[in-house]
Amino acid sequence: MKINTTKSKLLLSVLATAMLGSTAVSADDHKPNDIAIAIHGGAGTITRANLTAEQEQAYKDKLQEALQAGYAVLDDGGDSTSAVIAAIQIMEASPLFNSGVGAVYTWDGEHELDASLMEGKTGNAGAVAGVKTVKSPIALTREVMEKSVHVMLSGEGAESFAQKQGLELVDNSYFNTDHRYQQLLRAKEKIKASEQPEQQAWEYLDLDYKYGTVGAVAVDKEGNISAGTSTGGMTAKRYGRIGDSPIIGAGTWADNDSCAVSATGHGEYFIRYHVAADICSRVKYQNKSVAEAGDEVIHGVLQEAGGAGGVIIIDADGNIAMPFNTEGMYRGYMKADGKAHIAIYREDD
Ligand code: ASP
Repeated sequence: MKINTTKSKLLLSVLATAMLGSTAVSADDHKPNDIAIAIHGGAGTITRANLTAEQEQAYKDKLQEALQAGYAVLDDGGDSTSAVIAAIQIMEASPLFNSGVGAVYTWDGEHELDASLMEGKTGNAGAVAGVKTVKSPIALTREVMEKSVHVMLSGEGAESFAQKQGLELVDNSYFNTDHRYQQLLRAKEKIKASEQPEQQAWEYLDLDYKYGTVGAVAVDKEGNISAGTSTGGMTAKRYGRIGDSPIIGAGTWADNDSCAVSATGHGEYFIRYHVAADICSRVKYQNKSVAEAGDEVIHGVLQEAGGAGGVIIIDADGNIAMPFNTEGMYRGYMKADGKAHIAIYREDD
């Protein structure tokens, strides 16, 4: 059985503190500088045949920039939540990913953005769903977490809260990109041409039409872990559809005693199988490593149910796993040595 070092270290620390007669309990014997960060930019039908050399390089460069932004925060002694946000904001601002600029279009030709954030130290979380005018949805999740008494805000209410907190608001067209618009037109044609009822036809659209969410998980110098996820959801979504990305436990989860997870993929499955929290429960209650727990859920539970996608996982010791059951997932990590590891295709592992 794997010995969970974080938990045994915690136990020793609690015992030592109790023997000294102090009521202060410190769980922080994480070695300074053992910082680490992992990011994803979506999973799907990502193969060498589907990407030109230039596109591949553009993704790699942007993933590296996002990793470095998050890593710099950690290296300066910043907290894991700030690192997660810094990395995600680079990807939200890039048209390459399905979040912020470059978000997919809804059936009605708009963008409705979802995001969430969770801190492993406190169990606090913040989430927003269906926001149309908030420039950085991941920045708003922190405001919800720290400045409101709620966990999730949606639609216009979330936007007016964002305004009150002084966040930047933009016109919905700020998120427009031509390639996502063409994707919407193709998706609508396919749905209309399908003999199935509209919602079923949407369900079976090719993966390429749907994914590209971004996320990050990190551990800071204090040994605290956090996770965050930001997305435009799925192309041609309708009726106010909300996916897993803003749902704590489904698309995002963090708990210092187990792990932090950010997910990407077919949200309906991640919601029904509570994927992010399920992985961390296996780490916490079955003493599985992040790699074992991630494989069991992504290649077992999720795949058997017919769900496609992947996750990035980190624990307080800086162990990282990035399992996915699609052909590719934009992903990368950086540990204390500061070296960026970036991968796209399945065979990169
Ligand atoms: N999980 C997201 C959703 O279902 C989509 C994605 O990961 O790209 O909204």
